[in-house]
Amino acid sequence: MSSLLHRSLSTTPPTVVSGRGARLTDDKGRVYLDASGGAAVSCLGHGNERVRRAIAAQLDAIAYAHTGFFTNEPAERLATALVARAPEGFGSGRAMFLGSGSEAVEAALKLARQYHVERGEPQRYRIVAREMAYHGNTLGALATGGHRQRRAPYLPMLAEVARIPACFPYRGRHEGEDEEAFGRRMADALEDEILRLGPQTVAAFVAEPVAGASLGSVPPAAGYFARIRDICDRHGVLFIADEVMCGSGRTGSFFALEQEGVSADIITLAKGLGAGFQPIAAVLACGKVVEAIAGGSGTLWHGHTYMSHAVGCACALAVLEELDERDLLANVRRQGHKLGQKLLARFGQSAHIGDVRGRGLFWSVEIVADRTTKAPFDPRLKMAAMFKKRAQELGLLCYPSSGCVDGERGDHVLVAPPYDVEDDDLDLIVDLMGRTLDDCIAVAGT
Ligand code: PLP
Repeated sequence: MSSLLHRSLSTTPPTVVSGRGARLTDDKGRVYLDASGGAAVSCLGHGNERVRRAIAAQLDAIAYAHTGFFTNEPAERLATALVARAPEGFGSGRAMFLGSGSEAVEAALKLARQYHVERGEPQRYRIVAREMAYHGNTLGALATGGHRQRRAPYLPMLAEVARIPACFPYRGRHEGEDEEAFGRRMADALEDEILRLGPQTVAAFVAEPVAGASLGSVPPAAGYFARIRDICDRHGVLFIADEVMCGSGRTGSFFALEQEGVSADIITLAKGLGAGFQPIAAVLACGKVVEAIAGGSGTLWHGHTYMSHAVGCACALAVLEELDERDLLANVRRQGHKLGQKLLARFGQSAHIGDVRGRGLFWSVEIVADRTTKAPFDPRLKMAAMFKKRAQELGLLCYPSSGCVDGERGDHVLVAPPYDVEDDDLDLIVDLMGRTLDDCIAVAGT
């Protein structure tokens, strides 16, 4: 009997004992191909000598000292490195480091509020976010996210957040509407909502540049974020890009939003930033946000015990070195393109895959009961969960989610292999996904 409060109280998952590259091994000696790095975390695979040495050296020097008393070298260097990579507007920006994506989102929301209060606009407090977004599980982040199932038990405890539709072409585009017109319509929903709420009350708009966990790696429609940027600017609303899942190189550029040619005001990062070797997240604030605080109270109205943890920061610096020295983002673009092609070749005409979508090494397939009508399977079948379980039995780890149609119906499976994934593993991932799908369809009895 386990004393651990597992995600499921009726089953205990296998015990993992070691990992190398894209492979994990459990205590029974079973080997799994980790095609999703957990939740798009392990971007360097498992076991990395440079990162191991960096963590060990930092532990030997100093692991922890409270930020109320000290700064530390890895945190300073990491902040400099991230600000240097950040898009236009971040030249005089700054970074803070936290322990998880949810903490980063909470800090970003509070930073947006502080910005407005410091500038003498305390009436700006409202947040606008998108339906079906996932921004984390702490109460502020959960309130911001739009995943109905995950929010449902906590609804009475969640702050009110205004919501606009997700930019999700597979299910949102009208017949005959081209991509740009769709992107314009989706972005204009933000302006309508800001006007409805009263522009002078809105603090920030929050979105994942490439939608992650709850919709399944959906790239934005062309022109969508450029229009969002313009709308935010015209109404004095800050734009928070939640890059916890899609950032740190996952889509082929360090920041996912770079590919849209626009910049956010506040950016969150986590997952790939520490590649799973340490729990670390970042919030980047652009120059104008930093200047408002510097010219106002001069203090950050937020803090945590483990902020700027030296070991986490040393780890993230070593991850950045790996990305740069091995030119891994070029590999993400190259192998990501191949993965997309292979998924399309295998599932593009499949009767039960309605959509293959993604960017970089961040891809999803949406499972449907009927490809023509896009009808999802009955949620009682728990298709995504069944897929994950069967895939694991076949030795493949991938990341399932349900609710992509309306928060309850709809199943997709996400893969996010390591940035140095090779062709053989791409083939194996697609082959095992195909076998898993066939087995699940046989169980579903269609
Ligand atoms: N934001 C996004 C976009 C995420 O995908 C996630 C996690 O999946 C989070 C925030 C929350 O991160 P964490 O689980 O590290 O708290």
